[in-house]
Amino acid sequence: MKIPRQKMREQDPSERIHNFSEVALGFTEEMAKIEVERCLQCGDPKCVNGCPVNIDIPNFIRLIKEDNLLEAIRSIKDYNILPAICGRVCPQEVQCEKACILSKRWEPVAIGALERYVADWERKNQLKECPDCEAPNNIKVAVIGSGPAGLTCAADLARYGFDVTIFEAFHKGGGVLVYGIPEFRLPKEIVEDEIETLKMLGIKVEYNKIIGKTLMIEDLKEMGFKALFISVGAGLPLMRKIPGMNLNGVLTANEFLTRTNLMKAYKFPEYDTPIKIGKVITIIGGGNTALDSARVALRLGAEKVIIVYRRTESEMPARKEEYHHAVEEGIEFQFLTNPVRFLGDNSGNVEKIEVLKMKLGELDASGRPRPNPIENSEYLINCDTVIIAIGTNANPILTKSIPKLKLTKWGYIDADEEGKTNIEDVFAGGDIVTGSATVISAMGAGRQAAKAMNAFLRSKFL
Ligand code: FAD
Ligand code: SF4
Repeated sequence: MKIPRQKMREQDPSERIHNFSEVALGFTEEMAKIEVERCLQCGDPKCVNGCPVNIDIPNFIRLIKEDNLLEAIRSIKDYNILPAICGRVCPQEVQCEKACILSKRWEPVAIGALERYVADWERKNQLKECPDCEAPNNIKVAVIGSGPAGLTCAADLARYGFDVTIFEAFHKGGGVLVYGIPEFRLPKEIVEDEIETLKMLGIKVEYNKIIGKTLMIEDLKEMGFKALFISVGAGLPLMRKIPGMNLNGVLTANEFLTRTNLMKAYKFPEYDTPIKIGKVITIIGGGNTALDSARVALRLGAEKVIIVYRRTESEMPARKEEYHHAVEEGIEFQFLTNPVRFLGDNSGNVEKIEVLKMKLGELDASGRPRPNPIENSEYLINCDTVIIAIGTNANPILTKSIPKLKLTKWGYIDADEEGKTNIEDVFAGGDIVTGSATVISAMGAGRQAAKAMNAFLRSKFL
C-alpha cells in the first residue's frame, strides 16, 4: 500500500500543443515493475468483471511480474485482439480500474497502462504471432464495417475456421479509430499494426465498398456469403435545429475530425487537404469527440479554443484523462452554457454564438441532472469556427437497403446480446446496435456475435 500508483510519462503541455505526436508516453520497464507489485492478486478479482471482455487481469499482471511478457501478451490476446488500442483509449476509470479493490481506499492498479506496456513491448520487438485457429471450413462470411466491432468479430470468425471478408466504405480500416480519434491519442501506425494481426488470420478486406450503395446485401449472398455481421457504427452527426446552422464555419465534429485524421489535413501541404479554422474556435459538446476536436483545433494553430457544455465537469462523458489533458493544454471550458443561435457577417461567415446560462435540475432519462435554461442570461461569444460535437445517430445507408431488418424507433438495429437480428443469417453489433458507446463495448459485441454466428453456421452447414 506504500507504493504509489505510477504516473504515465507525458509530453509537456507547452510542447505538445504544437505537434500531433502521442501525448502519453507509456510506462518504462522500471515503472511497470513497480506497478505490478501493487496488484494483490485477489482470489475473487473484481477487475475482471469490470472489463467488458473479461481479460484475466491478475494473470497477465502476474506474468509481467515474472518477466514473462510473451505469455502476458498471449494471455491478454485470448480475450482482446486489440490491446495496444484498448490500453490507450478505454475509459478504464469506469471499467476495470473502477472495480479494482484498491480503488476503495487507495488508487487502483494502473491496468490500462500495463496492458499498453505489454502490447507495445510485443510491437517494438516484432513478436506478433498468428493466433491459434481451427481448420478452414471454406464457409464464407461477410463483415460490414471495419471498426472495433467488425475487426473483433472477423478475427474470432477466422479463428473458428471461417473464410472472412470485411467490406469497408473508407479507403482505410479501423472505423472511428482512424477517422475519429486523433493521432496524438492513438497513433495510426498502432491501428495499422493491430490490423496486421488480422491479415495473419487470412482475413480479406475490401475497401471503398459502401454496402447498401456499391454492393447490396443480395449481391453478397450471390457471392456465396452464408452469414453477415453488420458493424457500421453510428456515424451520422446529430445537428441542433437552431438559427445560423448553415453559416460558413459551422462544422460537425465528424467533418472536422475526418478531414484532419483520415485525410491528414494536419500534414498539409504534404497531404493535399487544406483546412481553415481561424483564430477562435468554439466547440459545442462535452464528450470525447468534443475534446478531441478542441485539442486538434489547438494543434492546427487556433489562438483560443472554447468548449461550451450545457452541464458541468462532473457530467462530462469524456474520459477523465482527456479532460485533464485538455485543461493542461489551455482549452477554456464554459460549463452550464448552451448555444441559442449562431450569428454571421455579411458574407455568411459565422462570427458570434449567442449562448444561454443553464442550471441543473432533476435527473433525466440518462441518469444525469437535466440542464434548465436561466431566463435572460444570454451573452455572446466571438468566434471564427464552430464545431458541433453533440453526438451521433445510426447511419441509415445500409439499414434502409434491407427493408425487412427490424430497427428500434431511433433507427438502430434491433439485435439481442448475441447479435441476432430478426433475419436468421444477419447479425449486428457495436454502435449500430447500442448507439455511440466505447471501443471495448463494440469489441465485446463483436465477440458475442462471432460465437452465435459460429453456432448458427455449424448447425446449418457443417
Ligand atoms: P465504428 O468505429 O464507427 O466503425 C464503423 C465502420 O463501418 C467505419 O469504418 C465505417 O466507415 C464503416 N461503414 C459505415 N457504413 C458502411 C457501409 N454501408 N458499408 C461498409 N462500411 C461501412 N471510445 C472509447 O472507448 N474511448 C475513446 O477514447 C473514444 N474516443 C472517441 C472519439 C471520437 C472522436 C469518437 C467519434 C468516438 C470515440 N469513442 C471512444 C467511441 C468509439 O470509438 C466507438 O464506440 C467505436 O468505434 C464503435 O465501434 P464500431 O465498430 O461499432 O463502429
Ligand atoms: Fe489486482 Fe486490482 Fe484486479 Fe485485485 S482487483 S487482482 S488488486 S488489479
